[in-house]
Amino acid sequence: MAQNDFHAGAGSREGSPADAQRTPATPGGWRLDHSYARLPAGLWAEVLPSPVRAPQLVAFNQRLALELGLDAVALAGADGAAIFAGNQLPPGAQPLAQTYSGHQYGHFTTLGDGRAILLGEQLSPAGARWDIQLKGAGPTPYSRRGDGRAALGPMLREYIISEAMAALGIPTTRSLAVAATGEPVWRNEARPGAVLTRVAASHLRVGTVAGAAARGDLAELGALVDYTLQRHYPEKAGSPNPALALLNAVVARQAALVARWMLVGFVHGVLNTDNVALSGETIDYGPCAFMDAYDPATVFSSIDRHGRYAYGNQPKITQWNLSRLAEAVLPLLHPEEERAVALAQAALGEFAELYQHHWLAGMRGKLGLFNAEPEDAALAESLLLWMQTTKADYTNTFAALAEATAAGCGPITGAGDDAELTSWMARWRQRLARQEQTEAESLRLRQANSPAVIARNHRVEAALNAAERGDLSVMTRLLADLSSPYDYAGADPAAREPGPQGGEAYRTFCGT
Ligand code: AMP
Ligand code: MG
Repeated sequence: MAQNDFHAGAGSREGSPADAQRTPATPGGWRLDHSYARLPAGLWAEVLPSPVRAPQLVAFNQRLALELGLDAVALAGADGAAIFAGNQLPPGAQPLAQTYSGHQYGHFTTLGDGRAILLGEQLSPAGARWDIQLKGAGPTPYSRRGDGRAALGPMLREYIISEAMAALGIPTTRSLAVAATGEPVWRNEARPGAVLTRVAASHLRVGTVAGAAARGDLAELGALVDYTLQRHYPEKAGSPNPALALLNAVVARQAALVARWMLVGFVHGVLNTDNVALSGETIDYGPCAFMDAYDPATVFSSIDRHGRYAYGNQPKITQWNLSRLAEAVLPLLHPEEERAVALAQAALGEFAELYQHHWLAGMRGKLGLFNAEPEDAALAESLLLWMQTTKADYTNTFAALAEATAAGCGPITGAGDDAELTSWMARWRQRLARQEQTEAESLRLRQANSPAVIARNHRVEAALNAAERGDLSVMTRLLADLSSPYDYAGADPAAREPGPQGGEAYRTFCGT
């Protein structure tokens, strides 16, 4: 299940290798196209990045740059700093801010890129199309009361966690660079400012479609649906009911995505509909974090007081978000409202089963099971229940199973000679004995499905604090550890330690 590789996303496939060759390369390797800007004008607004005082590259993802066909050497210097801070446009850029709406904590709001500017779509040598977006590049027509800027800490946090997710093989937007601006931003206090260069299969969101629907222009809505299908689900582009095809496709991808989050203990933190990508990538890393002790009620975000976006609520809230997508495309599903509603409900009705399928397949992988038996879900659930009661560390419990041999397993936090765990282990051993694969094969499957190393909160904080003081070595070390999360043999034991208090008191803040 887990792809142990760094290339999580496939980009969107509208651009073929032939396209890339037709668009001449420019200095730096930029081959920017602008398919989104060819959509109706209600969906975007032209806007230029605002220059900053003293651009300086703080992080640069050379490997990703190469995948994009960019000149990783040239861009690692002053030219890159100027481009990634928004002071200089790359050749062929046509900057714009996208319009969208969002249900924020359940309430509909008209939004748009308030501090993000799309430079264009890079056509990669492999023939994929990638949005190149500057986050924190200054005010846009959608900034409302915001300053259009971002602080260094949160942008580095997005860089670290998105790259960790990519290395885990989980669909995600990527981070190409973080440039410090040399200017302060005001977030209760003065913080150093920065711009993140985000790379995404696209920035189309549930809220993009909902925004078009709210404007009530069916031609615009239809164009957006066709464009999204073409860009992310080209095999369905000729469908007789494009809106239904899109809804089904997004339901399927989101079900798979949320299952991946749940399997690694990831809490997104702010699953508003503007933060749900139609491509099925994880997007908008704000108050996100990985859970330490297993508890479905885990919340890190300081503003999520009622746990709407708690770890255990993520599947349910994703289905709720998908219902907002269904509502938005309703007028296109069928001319008769009743029939349209029936089609939408049928599409949404698939979510629970798809989610359960992906989750159980992943759990089987984590338990080293190749075949299916009816009691497998119960086996996994009783382990989770034990973990919840004993406050066992989620990642390290599965990692201990991933390293367990027939002779036994390493210590599991909170275990001691816990009789319940001992009896669960016996049940698990019997289950393993009923499959034909060898112990070694099962062990490999477990290790490929349960990371040894995740982005532990205390290490992320340490890296960000050091970076703010000008010391990037802590972050460099962390990024290296996170780049091969399934490498049990190579993992540094220190990188596998849970936080000092089992992470219980950890809080993330939305002030980004
Ligand atoms: P988020 O909570 O990061 O998903 O952002 C929600 C909305 O607020 C989006 O439309 C953002 O563009 C906007 N936003 C967030 N921070 C700022 C800021 N500093 N300035 C302007 N707009 C912002
Ligand atoms: Mg957002």
